[in-house]
Amino acid sequence: MTTLIINIKQLIQVREANILKVSGEEMKTLPLIENAYLLIENDTIVDFGKMEDCYSTKAETIIDASGKIVMPTWCDSHTHVVYAGNRVQEFVDRINGLSYEDIANRGGGILNSAKTLQNTTEDDLYQQSLQRINQLIKLGTGALEIKSGYGLTLEAELKMLRVIKRLKKEQNIKIKATFLGAHAVPKEFKDNKSGYLDHIIKDMLPKIESEDLADYIDIFCEKGYFDLEDTKRIMEAGKKYGLKSKIHVNQFNSFGGVKLAVEYNAVSVDHLEELSPEDVIALQNSNTMPVALPSCSYFLSIPYTPAKQLLEAGLPIALATDYNPGSTPSGNMNFVVSTACIKMKLTPEEAINAATLNGAFAMEISNQYGSITKGKKANLIITKPIENYNYLPYAFGENCIEKILINGKLVL
Ligand SMILES: [Zn+2]
Repeated sequence: MTTLIINIKQLIQVREANILKVSGEEMKTLPLIENAYLLIENDTIVDFGKMEDCYSTKAETIIDASGKIVMPTWCDSHTHVVYAGNRVQEFVDRINGLSYEDIANRGGGILNSAKTLQNTTEDDLYQQSLQRINQLIKLGTGALEIKSGYGLTLEAELKMLRVIKRLKKEQNIKIKATFLGAHAVPKEFKDNKSGYLDHIIKDMLPKIESEDLADYIDIFCEKGYFDLEDTKRIMEAGKKYGLKSKIHVNQFNSFGGVKLAVEYNAVSVDHLEELSPEDVIALQNSNTMPVALPSCSYFLSIPYTPAKQLLEAGLPIALATDYNPGSTPSGNMNFVVSTACIKMKLTPEEAINAATLNGAFAMEISNQYGSITKGKKANLIITKPIENYNYLPYAFGENCIEKILINGKLVL
């Protein structure tokens, strides 16, 4: 099957195949072709260029993109989209003055989600998650990572990971799975955190390996949750089972987690709302992608990741949603890109690079996703007629997306 898109006003994020991420100054540039065409064969981008060089007329489907922008779909490298129910009551409680920590202390928060999930069947959980993913695709997301961590028992963590595996298998979208057993200490292990970590390492990880349920391992490295010693144990255990790390770190405190994650060659360090000069130094000369989650900062009214500081240090940055029921009940990458521009002062070029190619890098799939490149998957956003790509972050809250192609197929 061939699809030809013609008269594209701006074809953006056009890259050579060897560019797998962009860092520092490079992020200021978003390569594009004005008045372009793009040719798809089956699920792959096979050709593109200036309209005047478009000789192909044999395509089975022709899409006229006059006045419109064509770009790669968003790559959301950090989500918790598999969850049961919602936490809308805690949202109201927070408006009425309770903090994230107050809510956690009285049994809300992650433990609340865990309880609901434990009482939800695997099939129900699959259906709820699928509904959310279908919404994300309509908002332009074409690849995503999904974490466990709302189970917190062997049975419930396996349930989450099996749901993610089924989504991977049955849905036409690229998904990476991360095991986040160490998301919080469950009630049964209230005064025995070390016992819970033993349970993760001795009981959960072997099962996860035998069913091939995870690509990565994660831990919530934060004061009041898991400390550096715990983080080291989890990354060490992950390594034994062939799972690289993607770590929740520096959301509320900076105390050495970034440096530790870099020592273990973590694929990404995520959150970084709090950032020390030592953290920045640790990230330099590493391959670890810093990931900012601005809609989480927005929802919780906490500081935003100091992205400019990272870029000035020559580092890359990726943007992701952190879609979860507690701190970010939104998987809208368009809003993430807008918020990164408005609140973190990223330029539209920096934000779009961070949400496409660098997002793909944070899932180790940037050889196939995240840019307009011959040989990459034809995962594309076609916008409504708009002036130029700057309009996308500018018009926050407006849905500028007209069509979506996933693996070369029109899904919207
Ligand atoms: Zn998260």
